[in-house]
Amino acid sequence: MKRTAWCALGAAALAAAPLPAQPEWTTTDRVLQAIWEEGTRRSQLEPLAQALLDSLGPRLTATPGMFAAQAWAVRKYAEWGIPARNERYGTWRGWDRGYTHVDLLTPRVRTLEAMMLAWSPGTAAPVEAGVVVLPDVADAAAFRAWLPNARGRFVMISFPPPTCRPDENWQKWAVPADWERFRQERAEAAQAWTRRVARTGLTARDLPVVLEEAGAAGILTNLWSQGWGVEKIFNARTRMVPTVELSCEDYGLVYRLAANGDDPTLRMDARARFTGEATPVSNTLAEVRGTRKPDEYIMLSAHFDSWDGASGATDNGTGTVVMMEAMRILRAVYPRPNRTILAGHWSGEEQGLNGSRAFAEDHPEVVRGLHALFNQDNGTGRIRNISMQGFTRAAPVFRRWLAAMPPTVSDSVNIQDPGLPSGGGSDNASFVCHGAPAFGLGSLSWDYGTYTWHTNRDTYDKISFDDVRRNALMVAMLVYLADQEPELLPRDRLTEFPANQQTGQPGSWPACPPPARTAAESTR
Ligand SMILES: [Zn+2]
Repeated sequence: MKRTAWCALGAAALAAAPLPAQPEWTTTDRVLQAIWEEGTRRSQLEPLAQALLDSLGPRLTATPGMFAAQAWAVRKYAEWGIPARNERYGTWRGWDRGYTHVDLLTPRVRTLEAMMLAWSPGTAAPVEAGVVVLPDVADAAAFRAWLPNARGRFVMISFPPPTCRPDENWQKWAVPADWERFRQERAEAAQAWTRRVARTGLTARDLPVVLEEAGAAGILTNLWSQGWGVEKIFNARTRMVPTVELSCEDYGLVYRLAANGDDPTLRMDARARFTGEATPVSNTLAEVRGTRKPDEYIMLSAHFDSWDGASGATDNGTGTVVMMEAMRILRAVYPRPNRTILAGHWSGEEQGLNGSRAFAEDHPEVVRGLHALFNQDNGTGRIRNISMQGFTRAAPVFRRWLAAMPPTVSDSVNIQDPGLPSGGGSDNASFVCHGAPAFGLGSLSWDYGTYTWHTNRDTYDKISFDDVRRNALMVAMLVYLADQEPELLPRDRLTEFPANQQTGQPGSWPACPPPARTAAESTR
């Protein structure tokens, strides 16, 4: 009883803690003041993130996790009095991840750290089999002659990292000359492995498919993310047998056992279910109609889908809760905007910006009437970089908006003026290619690329809530200030671009590729 009361108190105190007071910030703007109050004193970021990341979990496109999260978002918006809907744009391969258990049985027993890749087939029942390493063959004919050796075995197809310590740890502790030599040897070994794969005559994409057709029991991979305990979890290529990522440490262990004649055997119990090749997929949209200019749009944007190695906390749970919280704040303190405020929580981003590209194609009226779109998709850090995306008259307007905000929110934001239009990377590109002003809000790294981006460690605990709180305040204030502009943001844009580095051809404004609306249309 006591314990419960203490916990509840602790949580309440944490949630209510405002950002540091800003004595140097004064504003006569009552709405900005109210946004600050609502976002600091009544922040909902922790409960939103906890429900989304812990209770619902990862949100791989066309999986039950994504559908449950989309239903939750619509309910949340309804609670706040904001109309929201899921709008279908295509279909995708439906899949439901179960558990992955892999044990080393011989020469000794150890439970391995392992995870099936996304869209991998599972096993019908636990499979026990030996292990074989991709052979070092002379050419494609020799590989074909070797292929019967794959039958009934797990095949290791990835380069085994010789160390699972991050480079900075070596730099800190090793004799510098030793580290230099080690680095060189590792680079040479990795190149040799690339040549080993190439000599099979197959691409890295096709190799697992040929191995499963030859009767392999499963494919073992490693894509170490170069930090302590981090693995990238992308999608499988196999359609009949599991493709399983072993952690850097355990992949190295099994590889060394196999390479040194210890004849390791594994037991794999990996469950997954395909739920339909043409499962309908949707974007989630929340909308507050404008009172005076309903055909002009201010958009909040963050992809909702994730990879599923962990919870998708920083990619893109943080962008998601920032946009939801900004919508909640605005609804509470600025319920009757001049222009229509539209939040786009996209699906299919990780497979090629498919949801947002489809939305832009399906809604020319929104693209035409778009005043400004604010997208966030690079983690938990506070926003410090905003490119003007090649719009040549946008920077003075942005500088004015940022100057109106509390310094703790907008301090040291670097405006790249005019910057270059994004051809991809995240969902603002889906609008920029149509010539519409759509901006990415660039965050401080917090080691995003190594530790959380598409990894097995992208979880709730990696969130810096103080930074995310600033970002939600910034987005709410940007939307409000944009709505106060009498005119639409000018669309004047760059006409000359740096030459393409590969082709030497003169650059140009990026074109809009057609979205993949079905899994079959995907080029990935
Ligand atoms: Zn992302």
